[in-house]
Amino acid sequence: MQPLTSYSISRLQEMFARGTVGPVEVVRAYLDEIDSKEGAVRAFIETSPDQAIERAKRLERLDPKEYPLYGVPVAIKDNICTSHLHTTCASKILAGYTPPYDATAVSRLLDAGAVLMGKTNLDEFAMGSSTENSAFQITRNPWNTDCTPGGSSGGSAAAVAAGMVPVALGSDTGGSIRQPAAFCGVVGMKGSYGRVSRYGLVAFASSFDQIGPVTRDVMDCAIVMKVISGHDAMDSTTLPGNGNDMLGSIDKGIAGLKVAIPAGMSGWGMDEDVRHSMDDTVKFLETSGARVSQVELPDMDVSMACYYVLANAEASSNLARFDGVKYGYRAEAATLSGMYRASRGEGFGEEVKRRILLGTYVLSSGYYDAYYLKAQNVRKMIRARFQDVFDEIDIIAMPTTPTPAFGIGEKVDDPVAMYMSDIFTTGANIAGIPAISIPAGLSREGLPIGMQLIAGAGREALLLGAAGALEKNCRFRERCLPDPRRWGV
Ligand code: GLN
Repeated sequence: MQPLTSYSISRLQEMFARGTVGPVEVVRAYLDEIDSKEGAVRAFIETSPDQAIERAKRLERLDPKEYPLYGVPVAIKDNICTSHLHTTCASKILAGYTPPYDATAVSRLLDAGAVLMGKTNLDEFAMGSSTENSAFQITRNPWNTDCTPGGSSGGSAAAVAAGMVPVALGSDTGGSIRQPAAFCGVVGMKGSYGRVSRYGLVAFASSFDQIGPVTRDVMDCAIVMKVISGHDAMDSTTLPGNGNDMLGSIDKGIAGLKVAIPAGMSGWGMDEDVRHSMDDTVKFLETSGARVSQVELPDMDVSMACYYVLANAEASSNLARFDGVKYGYRAEAATLSGMYRASRGEGFGEEVKRRILLGTYVLSSGYYDAYYLKAQNVRKMIRARFQDVFDEIDIIAMPTTPTPAFGIGEKVDDPVAMYMSDIFTTGANIAGIPAISIPAGLSREGLPIGMQLIAGAGREALLLGAAGALEKNCRFRERCLPDPRRWGV
């Protein structure tokens, strides 16, 4: 028999329904994986083994057939609120904080029968691309522990890649689900803006933020998307409808679809191995009957600049609430303003302070028109361009990142180099459109390479169908798995 931790969600559901295995056994098997690998990977800020076993025991009294995620272990990025576990955003300012409620995405997972295994590490307040900005620990890439897992949802991606959970939630503001998914050889998706409720996601840049799944394959991703999607009265920006048709095109493949490759991709610092994977993807698309063409997208560095102006502006406003009064860390001082200053000064890390300063700068009078307003106009232009493109074609395909995972410490002193690893991902957040990263191959050093597919707003089902077809062709999981010897276990 295969190890219990290797089954897909649908296979597990069949086994539960037939009674060949129970949730306690499955949860224990994953807890064993966490025990043996977490020391080397450090994906979790907090694990909840006792609560998980308790919950699995309670599930045993329920009918598996009524719950789409019955007994499925799930890890949650630690900027998503959980009422029974801390939610720290990997920040000293929220250390020890427990929210009074669950995020909508979390309560939907629980209502569907999932079991929470713990909270995963991230760059503080989701600001970063390597998970090195966490105030608590550095997470390592299971494929090579000298490398970062990407970020900011690095803990979620590493936990899934190392087999410690089959599913994790991440958040994606400029690429934070897709980039770490690409670096760790797993699937990561963000839906259209408003597809998944942001209620209970600690806000970074509210007009970009989306919660989404990290999974081992596209089918699991679609199943989780279906559970967490849909209108929510607690988030007025959610789209109408229940997002129920995620699996509607899952077996349709890619034949007949119009797929476009952005022109001039190689100009964006693309590594040779990534280029090869891209070429393979194009070949596959052509042989599988897709109609492949080239498309002019707005310059990627323009998207980057637009994203970093607007996201930081929103962050500077969103993070004003952490003042030492209402939440978390409070420093002692003689005056009220001294207390604010000291609490924020000591509570926030360097990158968060950099973002708050940049954001405040671009919003301040005298600079507002030159930066914030201009970036808003650029955003409109980028959105319009994507809309025009999706009037003509179905899917855009391109690598998720220009390079595979980089080394720990390699970019920490160069924020701009760090920001550049989002160069292919920010466009989908700016335009509010769905995008998915799937593992497509390995570099010569044995690190995963991710391909990104992007679709027009509201077309998640089509996107998942195309991603499923590409996945079948790449056969990544059959061919490649991280090497446990690297983790020292
Ligand atoms: N890496 C990007 C940033 O640092 C994106 C972060 C995210 O998507 N949360 O802002």
